[in-house]
Amino acid sequence: MVHIIGAGPGDPELITIKGRRLLQNADVVIYAGSLVNPVLLEMTKKGCEIHNSASMTLDEVIACIEKAEAKHLDVVRLHTGDPAIYGAIQEQMDELKKRHIDFEVIPGVSSFLASAAALQQEYTLPEISQTVIVTRNAGRTPVPERESLKALATHQATMCIFLSIQMIEDVVKELIDGGYPSDTPIAIVQKASWPEQKIVRGTLTDIAGKVREAGISRTAMIVVGHCLDTEYALSKLYDPSFTHMYRKAHE
Ligand code: SAH
Repeated sequence: MVHIIGAGPGDPELITIKGRRLLQNADVVIYAGSLVNPVLLEMTKKGCEIHNSASMTLDEVIACIEKAEAKHLDVVRLHTGDPAIYGAIQEQMDELKKRHIDFEVIPGVSSFLASAAALQQEYTLPEISQTVIVTRNAGRTPVPERESLKALATHQATMCIFLSIQMIEDVVKELIDGGYPSDTPIAIVQKASWPEQKIVRGTLTDIAGKVREAGISRTAMIVVGHCLDTEYALSKLYDPSFTHMYRKAHE
């Protein structure tokens, strides 16, 4: 059995209990080397075989899994954050299906949520935005034109932009071209939940300079939207005049 596990954003306590249990039991671990916190690997049992997938091709990863499966070993494929977000797991799962190798996916805390925690920010504020867009700028992996940052910016929803900090100038330009006013607040969270976590806040006008000054060029989340402003309506959920299934109106 192969367990595809979300390792969480970095803090080793942010892996799920299930993920940790499976990691502790694994005979073979293949981890995404660039971002998975190596401290997690210390949880593995003695004799566990550990591979860093950063230096492996898809074929090599699959071959490694196949070899372990043939020996009935327990395999963990450890991905950063949640594996469903830019995890490149679909192609791995499809190869496993073709080979009739059983697998399960254990979700993890994605870095866009660890970033909200770091910012002490709710992304879905009443009358500001009720939508979170998870996206990236086009890089070596292209993005369909209809999903360009400029096109998505027309919604002025809360946007969490992955894999794009090294192109912050382009990101800002697209967001403004798409319709965000240039004084829209924006925050950068580098290495959310790691001891070296860094936060930079600004507006679309000044953020690129601040990012450069702070020396942030990788492993960072870009969060943009009016939710980062301070003015918003209070939620209906805790409003005394708003009743729901679990609470009747206060007399
Ligand atoms: N599956 C992962 C994302 C992998 S793509 C997840 O769910 O989080 C890698 C990108 O994720 C990085 O370029 C960065 O934009 C973001 N990222 C990963 N870990 C991060 C962290 N701890 N803090 C901020 N951004 C992070």
